[in-house]
Amino acid sequence: MKKFDAANNIQDLQYFGEFGGVNPSISDSSTYTFLSAKTMFDTFEGNTEGCYLYSRHSSPSNLYLSEALAKMEGTENANVTASGMGAITSVLLQLCKSGDHIVSSRTIYGGTYAFMKNFLPGLKIETSFVDITDLAKVEAAINENTKVLYCETVSNPLLEIADLNGLSELAEKHSLQLVVDNTFSPLSISPKLLGADVTIHSLTKFINGSSDAVGGVVCATSAFINDLKNVNSGACMLLGPTMDSLRAASILKNLRTLHIRMKKHSENAQYLAERWEKDGLNVKYPGLKSHPQHKLFTDMMHEEYGYGGLIALDVKTVEKANELMEMMQHENLGYLAVSLGFYKTLFSASGSSTSSEIPEDEQKEMGLSPGLIRFSIGLDHDIARTYEKMRECMVKTGVL
Ligand code: PLP
Repeated sequence: MKKFDAANNIQDLQYFGEFGGVNPSISDSSTYTFLSAKTMFDTFEGNTEGCYLYSRHSSPSNLYLSEALAKMEGTENANVTASGMGAITSVLLQLCKSGDHIVSSRTIYGGTYAFMKNFLPGLKIETSFVDITDLAKVEAAINENTKVLYCETVSNPLLEIADLNGLSELAEKHSLQLVVDNTFSPLSISPKLLGADVTIHSLTKFINGSSDAVGGVVCATSAFINDLKNVNSGACMLLGPTMDSLRAASILKNLRTLHIRMKKHSENAQYLAERWEKDGLNVKYPGLKSHPQHKLFTDMMHEEYGYGGLIALDVKTVEKANELMEMMQHENLGYLAVSLGFYKTLFSASGSSTSSEIPEDEQKEMGLSPGLIRFSIGLDHDIARTYEKMRECMVKTGVL
C-alpha cells in the first residue's frame, strides 16, 4: 500500500490562475451571478456542485486552501475559518446542543479552555476536564450526555501527547466524536489516520508560518463539513467565522513550504532540548527519551518531520523566566511574544500569558509552573551558535 505522505499530497495539487498564472487567481467577489434562477435556488438547497453563492458560504480561494489542508490531513473535506478559535467554536457548537457534555483534556490552549469553562455553560453545555494521558480517567468522565472527546495532539503548553488510537477506541465505544487540535504537530502527526473524526488547526501558527495572518481550518468528512456550511443550520455559515479570500490565497502559498520549515523547526528544537537537558535544565520535549510519552509520539509520527518546534523549559519562578526572556530578546535570540511557528524563536511564560485563563490552583494541579517558558523554536541557520548565546543569557540570569 502506498505510504501516506501529507507533503506529497499537497504538492500533487495543482491550481492555475486565469491567464495561466502559476498561482490561482484570487476570488475578489463576495457574491456570484447565476445564469438561471433555478440554479440559484438549487445552490441554496445545497444541490449544486461547483457553484458559488456568497463568500461567507465559500469562495474559490477558500476552497483551494481547504482542499489542500484536507489532503494534508487525509480527510475527505475541510473548511477554512477566520481563526483557530473560529474553527474550534464552530465545531463544538455544531456537535453539542443544550444539555450535552464534553470530555476535554485539561491541558489545552487557554482560549479553548475559557470557551468550554466560561462560555458553553451559558448554553447548558458542560465540560469535564481530565488528564488526557490517563485513558481510565477519560473513560470515567464520560456520561450519557457526552457527545465530544476533545484534545490537542501535543498539548499547549505542557507538551503532553494524546494517545489518539486509544482515545478513538473510547470514542467509538461510547459513540462520541473525537475532535483533535493538531496545531502543534502539522505533518508530523495525522490524527485522522489514528482515528480522529475531526481535525482542527490554527493556521495562524506553523501552517502559515510568517506571523502575519490569523486563520483556522476544520478537516473532516464531507457530511460534517456540509453540516457546518448548511445555510439553515451550519455554525460556519450562521456564526460567520469566514476566512477572507485574500488571506486564503496568501496562506496557500505559505503552505507550499511547510514541509521544509517543519523539518528545520524540529531539527533546531531537538538540538536545543538535548543540550539543555545535558546542562541539567528542567526541559520537556517529545523528542527527548525522558519525555513520558516519547515512545507514543514516536509510534504515531511521520518520522521525517521530527518532534515539532515547541519546547517547555521550567526555570521555576516567573521572575527568572521574565529576566531570561528579556535578556534573550535584547540579544536578538527571539521575541518575547505569544504565538508560535514563526521563523524567529518566540517565547512566553505560559502561566501568565496564553494559559492565564486557567485559574492558578488548576495550573498548579496540572503541573503548569509559573516559571514555565514555552519556546517556539525558529528556523535559525546556525543553531549551535544560538545555543551558545542562549547559554550565556542563562548563566548571566542565574538559570544555569
Ligand atoms: N489551538 C492552539 C493549540 C493554539 O495555540 C491556539 C492559539 O494560540 C489556538 C488553537 C487558537 O488559534 P487562533 O489564535 O488562530 O484563533
